[in-house]
Amino acid sequence: MREAVIPLSSTPSLYVVATPLGNLHDISPRAVAVLSAVTAVAAEDTRHSQRLLDAYGIRTRTLALHEHNEQSAAGEVLRLLQEGGSVALISDAGTPGVSDPGTRTVARVRAAGFAVVAVPGPCAAVAALSISGLGERGFRFVGFLPPKPAARRAVIEALRDDPDVLVFYEAPHRVLACVQDLASLLEPGRRVLIARELTKLHEQSVLLPLEEAAGWLAADPNRQRGEFVLVLEGAAPRTGLDAEAERVLALLLAELPTKVAARLAAEITGAPKNALYARALALKAD
Ligand code: SAM
Repeated sequence: MREAVIPLSSTPSLYVVATPLGNLHDISPRAVAVLSAVTAVAAEDTRHSQRLLDAYGIRTRTLALHEHNEQSAAGEVLRLLQEGGSVALISDAGTPGVSDPGTRTVARVRAAGFAVVAVPGPCAAVAALSISGLGERGFRFVGFLPPKPAARRAVIEALRDDPDVLVFYEAPHRVLACVQDLASLLEPGRRVLIARELTKLHEQSVLLPLEEAAGWLAADPNRQRGEFVLVLEGAAPRTGLDAEAERVLALLLAELPTKVAARLAAEITGAPKNALYARALALKAD
């Protein structure tokens, strides 16, 4: 790699910089160059981020920008840009604005006409998806589910038939309850990746049928410690048949040729013969 990193553009800009999830080596040379060259680093927790800055010998001054002061801190970021400076925005871990502060600052900086530049890197959701083997057809990032059980269940029910892979963030003290709710409200057989402590000392990831996930978490108290991403396989396409028609068809199909099973299932349940026949073919193909 012979080209030098050119850290900053010639116009005042806000750089949204991804930082490591745990392993301090997971930072790009460009991110280090930008953090070193900007006028100020706006950090979610300045004390937490100082460890990263110190590890790379970065002496740039920091200012606090977190969910409780984002409005006023964004004003300070704008002031620095108006004076011709450049600012880097970082969060405690991963990519700012992904279940982290930063979105409102980015919107205000854009609205004021300044450039916003991504310095991409770690993101827990993308890291977990990349090791799940599930994300071939795209995914939906859900982030944190509501902490209260009733609200959490309502969101899960609304997502029940979504064919996309779903990616959740979860806190250690809620991960078991979350997995139990997912298993009780969704179709059995869907696979879930539990990714814990990614890039850290106690990193673990396991792919299980949803109905086995709570048992896996409960089997060892250490498995409920740390930070979690859940990657859940999408819902199987709906057949349009009710549970009774599915049950009768499966029973007949085990004993009879496809066409006969579909015809008899239609007579017994009143469900449309064509739909039963199509479903029977799909079941045979499986
Ligand atoms: N902006 C971050 C990102 O890009 O991933 C996410 C910030 S959000 C406040 C923190 C949540 O991300 C944690 O509760 C956990 O669900 C997930 N997370 C962060 N680091 C993680 C890690 N090392 N392993 C697993 N999940 C992690």
